[in-house]
Amino acid sequence: MAVELRRSRKVKERADALREACEQLGRQLPPGDSAERIVADKVEQIAQQMGISTRTVLDRYVTDESMRVLANALVRQMQDLTEVMDQAPPVPVSVNDGLLVLAAFGMCSAVALRNLDHSESADPLIVVRDAADSTVHIAVTLAQADDDPVDVGGFQLAIGRKVITTVLEQLRAGRWECTCGSAHRADGGCALQDRLALDLASLGGWATHGDS
Ligand SMILES: [Zn+2]
Repeated sequence: MAVELRRSRKVKERADALREACEQLGRQLPPGDSAERIVADKVEQIAQQMGISTRTVLDRYVTDESMRVLANALVRQMQDLTEVMDQAPPVPVSVNDGLLVLAAFGMCSAVALRNLDHSESADPLIVVRDAADSTVHIAVTLAQADDDPVDVGGFQLAIGRKVITTVLEQLRAGRWECTCGSAHRADGGCALQDRLALDLASLGGWATHGDS
């Protein structure tokens, strides 16, 4: 149902309006079908609240004007998030740990690519994109270091942590399939997840169950 709705012509039209409204406010929604997802979710939510069909909601209640209102709310959320992320204080990372963190981004990409069809609670494509961005940023930072630890901070640090945290959370919850190829322990953990947790710690993050 949700997928069908997301692919319908009307949802696509509204999603285009939403994208445009966000761009006019100076922000871009993530690539792919994120706008369609947001619109379809909203439509289903309204339909449920009002006890009417999604078709009626699309015909009567989801206008270009309501897309502008929605865009305003989304852009505000994105700004709040960026502000929080920009404030992440820098952490010193040794060159050796930094190289292992790069390997962690590679592992995270492999796990995300294995789970492209499991985007219910986290979008694997966003993990892949963020892992690529983080790899570039941290590799360039490491290349400029002599043998001293480098400071990794701000938005890029937050994104790097988010990549590893997202993958760990999805694996622990059993929502994503692991790429380690070994039998997992009774608690659902494995050597790959342990490694990721150590690399997350190198970035000053933590990996205990339930953290986000
Ligand atoms: Zn595993």
